[in-house]
Amino acid sequence: MKKVLISLVLLQVVACSNFSSIEKRRIGKIGDSEKIMPLFTNRDPDELRFLRLQAGPLSKQDMRSRTYATLKLRMLATVRDTANTGVGIAAPQVGISKQLIAVQRFDKEGHPFAFYVNPVIEKYSEEKKWGWEGCLSVPGERDTVLRSTEVVIRYRDQDSWQIVRDTVSGFTAVIFQHEIDHLNGKLYID
Ligand SMILES: [Zn+2]
Repeated sequence: MKKVLISLVLLQVVACSNFSSIEKRRIGKIGDSEKIMPLFTNRDPDELRFLRLQAGPLSKQDMRSRTYATLKLRMLATVRDTANTGVGIAAPQVGISKQLIAVQRFDKEGHPFAFYVNPVIEKYSEEKKWGWEGCLSVPGERDTVLRSTEVVIRYRDQDSWQIVRDTVSGFTAVIFQHEIDHLNGKLYID
């Protein structure tokens, strides 16, 4: 009876996570946390096809998984890689088709990176501005993009799972628009 119970519990733990086995393999173990993840770029047709996919939402259970904790650390290591630094990163860029982004908050003291789960843009300001952008998935290129100067974002708090809204402006608003576009299969070169 005890054995049956244990296997039932194990089954439930396995069933709770939305990460596919390929994604789990890509994310690896907690011991890999410091290692950067290979970036998917537009130079490889298969990777570009992947970057064009609509990313799936994360569940409350995903938040509690070790896979999620490792993914966050590895995304952070990747975006902060001194050889190829970025100001934001989206999970699809490292081969994980999930709605997770990290954004460097230039509007906050110390410019920390913060993660956002299942983020969407609820409102774009009518005021728009042209600005230079680059992307870790489009190596060696830069171009100007017309973006709203202020956006209202909505996401899930990773601890409380409450819906949170935030109004962001300036360069940080540009990063949010760029990263959330990635979750919808859109690159800035589009
Ligand atoms: Zn990008």
